[in-house]
Amino acid sequence: MSSDRFEVVIVGAGLAGVAAALTLARAGVEVLVIERGDFPGAKNLFGGILYSGVLAELVPDFWEEAPVERHIVNRRWVMLNEDSQVALDLKSARFDAPPYNNTFTALRSKFDRWFAAQAEQAGALIINETTVEDLIFDGDRVAGVRTGRDDGDVLADCVILAEGANALLSEAAGLRQPMSPTNRVNAVKEVLALPPEIIEDRFHLEGNQGAAIEYFGGAVKGMVGSAFIYTNRDSISVGVGCLIDDYLRTKTAPYELLDDFKAHPAVAPLLRGGETVEYATKMIPEDSYNDLSDLYAAGVMLVGDCAGLVNPSIHHEGTNLAMASGVFAAEAFLEAREKGDFSAAGLASYRRRLDASWVMKDLAHYRNAVHFLRSNREFVDDYPRLVVELIRDYFTIDDTPKADVRRRLIRKVRDEVAFFRLVRQLWQARKTLV
Ligand SMILES: Cc1cc2nc3c(=O)[nH]c(=O)nc-3n(C[C@H](O)[C@H](O)[C@H](O)COP(=O)(O)OP(=O)(O)OC[C@H]3O[C@@H](n4cnc5c(N)ncnc54)[C@H](O)[C@@H]3O)c2cc1C
Repeated sequence: MSSDRFEVVIVGAGLAGVAAALTLARAGVEVLVIERGDFPGAKNLFGGILYSGVLAELVPDFWEEAPVERHIVNRRWVMLNEDSQVALDLKSARFDAPPYNNTFTALRSKFDRWFAAQAEQAGALIINETTVEDLIFDGDRVAGVRTGRDDGDVLADCVILAEGANALLSEAAGLRQPMSPTNRVNAVKEVLALPPEIIEDRFHLEGNQGAAIEYFGGAVKGMVGSAFIYTNRDSISVGVGCLIDDYLRTKTAPYELLDDFKAHPAVAPLLRGGETVEYATKMIPEDSYNDLSDLYAAGVMLVGDCAGLVNPSIHHEGTNLAMASGVFAAEAFLEAREKGDFSAAGLASYRRRLDASWVMKDLAHYRNAVHFLRSNREFVDDYPRLVVELIRDYFTIDDTPKADVRRRLIRKVRDEVAFFRLVRQLWQARKTLV
């Protein structure tokens, strides 16, 4: 193996890059992963649900050794107004046994390090503290990367870009559409340390069970986005994430939104006593399926967030799509290697693999989700507020006869909701959001 040429160079040791590296290394490919952080995960942040179906295929029974936090048995979706909450609460004993519904909380600084070590053990070389500054072209073909180190050029048969949401290299090379405030969410997240016993008592959990709660409506002041609380082993992740366009439109600062959310009377008791141990902000791509690029060109493939592969629906999945795309890119490379053809045509099986999988089927299904919410704002603002008010008022106990309460609430709905618009919206929502 020469020091300046590898069969594959991967930019970024996040979930997508490492899944690709692990698959390639196991197949005996000379693979170099270049990561700008001090170690894999050092610069990585997510809310915290690791969807682990692909991971379980790569590392069977990973939960026995991987530094995941808790397996999630309780999921809750909550609508808030200024003083009340209404929740849909799912808790299942089925999620309490392997494979734990493929849903774990995790902290990336621990998890990514472990995941990268699996790729290293399989034979991948991972270089940290090195930023890829540019792509090297040979005519139209991507032929390698230029790093910030002296003598920092590395050539490759194929470059896999796994650089995450801030996809500067991919954009500069014209391989994907530029970022815009309407296709990026900005998220702010805080990790609050709490003793495990308090977390378990407070969230009604036993042992290593975990809870994931997502909040809508008033929690994010009617913007397109959500707030969340996830339980880790001895900490809680709390955060908010909304379209950048909405922050600009409402002149709201993300950190103020998080402060207000944390102070809500239904939220503050869950966080009480927690000591801040981490505070960070990051972007999430919300590209629509309609806007995805080809995802590959001669000598290069895009995987994970830099390819825009995030499910923007209520499922909020990115981790599993990142890993799946890494595996598909690795498999496409292996096929191209057999033919000795790393041209765009030679790598085209990457897109075919994605298209044939749940990844593109899900993205295609939810292709209009964000656009629908942006153009039907009642779904993120008026309707959640109204639902909370109606249910709160229906169960408010005073001397009013129940029949009068019912009549008052029906009148309120008639005053505030345009019936035929709602029917049309529900019809569209059925196809775009569900
Ligand atoms: C706040 C937040 C909450 C989220 N919550 C969830 C959730 O609960 N569940 C879920 O499934 N998904 C969630 N996501 C999305 C999920 O985190 C991503 O989809 C996933 O991490 C994408 O993996 P990736 O490997 O593509 O990118 P990343 O994990 O971002 O990794 C990119 C890597 O590339 C490195 N890098 C970037 N540029 C360079 C360069 N030029 N040179 C060298 N290295 C470079 C970075 O340091 C990083 O290590 C969330 C995202 C955010 C931001």
